[in-house]
Amino acid sequence: RTAVVLFTRDLRVHDNPALAAACANADRVVPLFVLDPKLAGLSPNRLRFLHQSLADLRATLRDRGGDLVLRTGDPVAETMKVAGEVGATMLGMAADVTAYARRRERRLTAECERERISLRLFPGVTIVDPGVLRPGGGGPAYKVFSPYHRAWQSATWRDEVATPRRITVPDGVAAGGMPAIGAGESPDAAGGGETEGRRRLGTWLNHLDPYPDLHDDLPADGTSRLSAYLRFGCVSPLALANAARQRNAEAYVRQLCWRDFYYQVVLTFPKISTDAYRPNADDTWRADPEALKHWQDGQTGVPIVDAGMRQLRAEGWMHNRARLITAAFLTKHLGVDWRPGLAWFFRWLIDGDVPNNSGNWQWVAGTGNDTRPYRRFNPIRQAQRFDPDGVYVRRYVPELKSVEGAAVHQPWRLPADIRRGLDYPGPLESHRDEAVWLRP
Ligand code: FAD
Repeated sequence: RTAVVLFTRDLRVHDNPALAAACANADRVVPLFVLDPKLAGLSPNRLRFLHQSLADLRATLRDRGGDLVLRTGDPVAETMKVAGEVGATMLGMAADVTAYARRRERRLTAECERERISLRLFPGVTIVDPGVLRPGGGGPAYKVFSPYHRAWQSATWRDEVATPRRITVPDGVAAGGMPAIGAGESPDAAGGGETEGRRRLGTWLNHLDPYPDLHDDLPADGTSRLSAYLRFGCVSPLALANAARQRNAEAYVRQLCWRDFYYQVVLTFPKISTDAYRPNADDTWRADPEALKHWQDGQTGVPIVDAGMRQLRAEGWMHNRARLITAAFLTKHLGVDWRPGLAWFFRWLIDGDVPNNSGNWQWVAGTGNDTRPYRRFNPIRQAQRFDPDGVYVRRYVPELKSVEGAAVHQPWRLPADIRRGLDYPGPLESHRDEAVWLRP
């Protein structure tokens, strides 16, 4: 019996239910990845990380006697072509929630029925399967995090699956050339792959203890930075959560629950990246291309905002606290629509994915189903609290390197002669709030 395993966002051999089941139930297994040219242009940073992850996966599979078969084109057509060539009777893949993924699943289901191939969808992208937990009051998904978190904590998680030791690929299947790894756009971006992800996970587990105190501390950089590895499935979210639970790191496990939460939201609300989740919440946005450009370039004149936006460009990643501050600045201070902000993040973030990016943008913009739609973020108070000595700002905004301590957060309050010596713009005007924090 021959099985095809279609890898998508589960680029790993450890705790990979689709791969483990294929190896247990078939004599020959074809690990397959199909590069969809339609997705290639979305984000050079993510494309680079993907290609690195594929190269790593191929090397790991080869170490186990197997290979990673690569094709380029429409994922459904290419998968069915490979399945036909090898006479596969089984096709396995991880279930996923986005509109793109579900369309792919539906098309594969129809094709497999026609070709009498048994298609099985496996867990693995999240910790608890989206759609399994149902709110007590009815409805297909939880709209609010806290009750979801309670249900999630007491849910039974699946067992981790064993890593296959040997993989036998049928003779005569062309492996296909590995795509050249591009430069991406961010010079300081993290490198992709399961090997690197597992290495970082190992290091991180020794740094979990101070997480509750440090995760909001901007200069400390005290978060796991595992998000991109979770995004591409180089690290199993379940294995990570189990390891954190063993160390009683509940605050960290709770963050992983946010990820699952947004996945189950997307299952019932697939248009989350274009439409407000809360009805009629999108009535009042402005279009302001000039202000948007200042924000994108990290030239708003508000140092904490500019530091975050520049970290995004430099690293393809931004600290969560800075994501909150920058997203709130665009929507609540400039009054600009959340969707261009979301699109900008989606281009640069290596961890950029539809459920988390859209869910969080809507949370900040107040268009989501969260219970506090009128939440405000005063960027200066945020800066003083989470970057009290200005270390984070000076790290990413070199024009302000000479300004010491917390004074760096409000350059407009510096004496005029010092201010004139800084090659740094004045703050953008507010279109929403009173912006009392701007007054000298
Ligand atoms: P850690 O603090 O180490 O957290 C561990 C993991 O928990 C993260 O890797 C992530 O998988 C999950 N997590 C933590 N916070 C959140 C959260 N608020 N929502 C969902 N999952 C969370 N995260 C993405 O993975 N992709 C995105 O596209 C994305 N876009 C965002 C956009 C905005 C406007 C905001 C405010 C947040 C966004 N986040 C996104 C959530 C969060 O900022 C990142 O997951 C986190 O900064 C990643 O860094 P880390 O791995 O060091 O996090």
